Amino acid sequence: MSGITEKTFLITGVSSGLGRAFAEAAVQAGHRVIGTVRREMDAASFAALAPDRATPLVLDVTDYAAIADAVAHSERGVGPIDVLVNNAGYGHEGVLEESSMNDLQRQFAANVFGPVAMIQAVLPGMRERRRGHIINVTSMGGFITMPGIAFYCGSKFALEGISEALGKEVAAFGIKVTALAPGQFRTDWAGRSMDRTPRSIADYDAVMDPIRAARQAKNGNQPNDPAKAAQALLSIIEADQPPVRLFLGADALGLVNHKFEAMRAEITRWEALTCSTGFETAHDQS
Ligand code: NAP
Repeated sequence: MSGITEKTFLITGVSSGLGRAFAEAAVQAGHRVIGTVRREMDAASFAALAPDRATPLVLDVTDYAAIADAVAHSERGVGPIDVLVNNAGYGHEGVLEESSMNDLQRQFAANVFGPVAMIQAVLPGMRERRRGHIINVTSMGGFITMPGIAFYCGSKFALEGISEALGKEVAAFGIKVTALAPGQFRTDWAGRSMDRTPRSIADYDAVMDPIRAARQAKNGNQPNDPAKAAQALLSIIEADQPPVRLFLGADALGLVNHKFEAMRAEITRWEALTCSTGFETAHDQS
């Protein structure tokens, strides 16, 4: 390994997709990776990547009570965690009115509450050592929105907000926090991992049916390569001043810029009403 300091990563969700690509690239670069999986067979396949540098940890991130002990156990075995990559997550697809509160709770459990529990498990050690980097994998859907994935966007907006505020809390301790917001990547996200609520209200056929069909057709043909996302991850780990938020993919950038322009125009259009709510000053009242 040349020019890179060996680090210990904890990456959630390394059985497939982005998490697997992040882990493979980190191991390849000479780092040690503790990778979480949910099945024993995935643990064996992960360990086989590099028996001395890839350590599986069987953990469901929604099992909050198990997280602190699991992380402490891994740190005793492998070493203090330098980089946490909160990657594990999934997409819920469904019209909001057709979806259940249970769908919403499960989505936030995996995409928000689990990542926060992981952060709480690594922060005491990072704070003590006065260094560390927390990468939260959000989504372009944590900034732009699309009909049919309201719960998913809500969860990723939540993780974006938590990530940004956390960064301000821990900067003084030398801990960096980055939200990594991918566009469409060729992973299992839109395939085996997606939770699709069945359709039930005909009124939504016109908006939802084409969206569901398009996402199913796109599965396996997404424009972005997880291996390249992994190289981007390694770049920000090495940066002196890593970004607070990094979008990944030209598709994400186009949609995000479009939203910025629309937001700016709407804010300007309503500026007078926005600024109309202050108390009259004593001077104004006299
Ligand atoms: P993926 O191939 O389906 O991988 C998801 C990983 O998360 C799997 O390892 C899965 O484990 C794990 N996981 C899911 N729920 C979990 C839980 N409760 N506890 C522990 N592990 C869990 O999809 P991916 O695209 O790589 O997704 C990785 C992250 O990127 C997600 O947060 C996703 O929302 C985000 N993202 C993806 C895209 C995209 O286009 N692919 C775009 C924006 C954001 P199992 O194998 O056990 O299911």
